[in-house]
Amino acid sequence: MTDQEYMRLALDLAKAAQGQTSPNPTVGAVVVKDGVIVGLGAHLKAGEGHAEVHALKMAGDKAEGATAYVTLEPCSHFGKTPPCSNLLIEKKVKRVVVASLDNNPLVSGKGVQRLKDAGIEVEVGVLEKEARELNTVFFHYMAEHKPYVTIKTAMSLDGKIATVTGESKWITGEQARLDVHRYRHEHDAILVGVNTVLADNPSLTTRLPNGGKHPIRIILDTNLRTPLDSLVVTDGMAPTWIIVGSHVPQEKWEQYTSDMVTVIRASKSRIEINEVLAILGEKGILSLFVEGGQQVNASFLEAKCFQQFIVYISPKLIGGQAAPTIFGGSGFSSLADAASLSIQSIETIGDDIKIVAIPK
Ligand code: NDP
Ligand code: ZN
Repeated sequence: MTDQEYMRLALDLAKAAQGQTSPNPTVGAVVVKDGVIVGLGAHLKAGEGHAEVHALKMAGDKAEGATAYVTLEPCSHFGKTPPCSNLLIEKKVKRVVVASLDNNPLVSGKGVQRLKDAGIEVEVGVLEKEARELNTVFFHYMAEHKPYVTIKTAMSLDGKIATVTGESKWITGEQARLDVHRYRHEHDAILVGVNTVLADNPSLTTRLPNGGKHPIRIILDTNLRTPLDSLVVTDGMAPTWIIVGSHVPQEKWEQYTSDMVTVIRASKSRIEINEVLAILGEKGILSLFVEGGQQVNASFLEAKCFQQFIVYISPKLIGGQAAPTIFGGSGFSSLADAASLSIQSIETIGDDIKIVAIPK
């Protein structure tokens, strides 16, 4: 097998754990000695062993003189676990092939340098594009200190996200909704506006056939109108963070006594998306799934604060001038200012169509 083929295997191992390693990246590793695979590993959960640790443990003494394939540069700092570059040196690995350098400033280039200083042959860049795509969210967070934002919406074929009376359950079919739950599982947090809480009383949890991880629930709520008996406050399924304006008095938020509910005050009376993202970044949220109503969506669009846009289109016609479309607000008055996206994929899910696009 070639370097590319071993690296492809390491990438597949990493992919299997995608969505469960945050705030860490997903990483896979393969150890090969004399053309035989002697160790396999993936990082499964933050705080637990890195991919290299698992693969080297499996390899045991056979690691000496072997080649290690790693999808991300081995770490060189003492985090929750000791540095993997030290372990590779200790185990007397002969050659290390890395797909992509880490852009975490604590690591970038330093892991590779340490290996080279110890006389290990290092090659960087094998299947680099694939490796970077696997950790798009992690790389974005490391560069921006803000979460990677995905706006997700479901609309009818005539572009409506609810009827004139506000009914929106359900516009799309069961399979599309299952797909949405997979995204919830993979995201650190989900965000809606308080009107969606008032209109639908959603739980915003992940409901997959085999369970899944619930995202932290973020509600934008200037005047703290989230009902004390709403599911996001009472069900205890996941933490709920309610972001409120600076004017909301403490007596008001003290009513929210659940350990799972945190009220966070913005610095101004109006909640600004850029500040929300900075607060979430500070709190270690790497990925944010926006399932807002049209006002929240509009705020993210106007602030140009999103990295991915996903729309599920159902073959229904709802009509009604007053029925909401995806984005409210005042919109861009000139076409030249409109957000230009490039389509990444189009697929049919059940009776619905799913389109994924990213800003150009
Ligand atoms: P939103 O859910 O978008 O909530 C908007 C409210 O959030 C605002 O009125 C505001 O209330 C609060 N808010 C606080 N800060 C901000 C900010 N920076 N930007 C925007 N809003 C902010 O409300 P909509 O009325 O637009 O949508 C609700 C409807 O949409 C419901 O009928 C729901 O069923 C439907 N819906 C449909 C979806 C679909 O995919 N088909 C998905 C989600 C909702 P305040 O001033 O009090 O803080
Ligand atoms: Zn490591």
